Amino acid sequence: MFDLLDHYRVNELHVRDDAASGLKAFIAIHNTRFGPALGGCRFISYDSTDDALLDAVRLARGMSYKAVLSGVPQGGGKSVIMKPHGQFDSEAIFRCFGRFVEDLGGRYITAIDSGTTAREMDWINKETRHVTSTSSEDNPAIYTARGVFEGLKAAVRYKLGNEHLQGIRVAVQGIGNVGYQLCQLLHEAGASLLVSDINQDALKRAQADFSAQVVDPDNIYDAECEVFSPCGLGSIINDETLQRLRCAIVAGSANNQLKHHQHGQWLHDEGILYAPDYVINAGGLVYASLHHLGKPQQLIEDKTKRIAHTLSEIFKQSEQKGLATSVMADQLAEQRLYQKLSEAA
Ligand code: NAD
Repeated sequence: MFDLLDHYRVNELHVRDDAASGLKAFIAIHNTRFGPALGGCRFISYDSTDDALLDAVRLARGMSYKAVLSGVPQGGGKSVIMKPHGQFDSEAIFRCFGRFVEDLGGRYITAIDSGTTAREMDWINKETRHVTSTSSEDNPAIYTARGVFEGLKAAVRYKLGNEHLQGIRVAVQGIGNVGYQLCQLLHEAGASLLVSDINQDALKRAQADFSAQVVDPDNIYDAECEVFSPCGLGSIINDETLQRLRCAIVAGSANNQLKHHQHGQWLHDEGILYAPDYVINAGGLVYASLHHLGKPQQLIEDKTKRIAHTLSEIFKQSEQKGLATSVMADQLAEQRLYQKLSEAA
């Protein structure tokens, strides 16, 4: 366990096992240098405790990188609740989890993640105020979409030299919460949309609202376009799909787009500009953090727009140093997280 924590440079791991409610949870706090750790709470079935622990630790590091590059005063953390088999009382589990968060005294702030919704956050909120994404707040997806839109424009400007999206073909995979909002912004900017989803209603809506061309989910990788925008699944850049991409840019909201680290290098070698996922999809975190801190809406908008600036810097440095943008983003995040205070001044 300590090897794992050392490997991911996770500073704290908290465990709760509550027989009465059935809660079995980890909270991993990666780094609090720039503020309390903020990150979602996963509620999914795990094959083993080790798998759950690995998920918490890995994702906590990702949140630190995302927070430090988006410039919010937050550290990185993540929690996982192991979904019980058989019958369980959801409210009891999440209220117990809320007390667990409360016991950490604000060092960790929780949020929605896979398997949780505003309903679960509301239960947590009955026990602690260290929670975001409750039903009284905006859906963070709109902020995520705005950030992706700004980042996508920065990528088009950098790679293709276009100041506008007029006539740019964007293939969006997944027209859910983020994907739909992104399509709306792209449509308004004059982009031409290709869309794929396994949900027929989502496709019909995109077709009707944005005159989008529907592509079969299996064929979206082969679509001729300027930008491929993954907004559904993870691991979609892999050995199989990489050969098929017909785009100049990959820029979308999905988490963990690269199946393995080396796929970032391969995109770089193929001359495809990749906007690192945790940089371009940070808009939701920006909203959750700054809204929680009571900051003005204008600051949320400004920081979301700054995602474009951060990405442009990553693109530039990646080109100068001959490194993949995914590697460049990690290096930049680590530099900021671990540089000595004297150097930061
Ligand atoms: P969502 O569940 O609302 O949308 C996902 C969409 O992908 C759904 O419409 C689903 O039908 C579709 N999909 C599933 N399998 C597919 C397939 N094989 N081919 C094409 N489409 C498929 O999720 P969301 O909130 O819109 O998030 C989308 C992605 O962005 C996820 O990876 C999420 O982790 C990431 N993300 C979301 C946020 C946010 O604020 N919601 C923030 C950061 C990252």
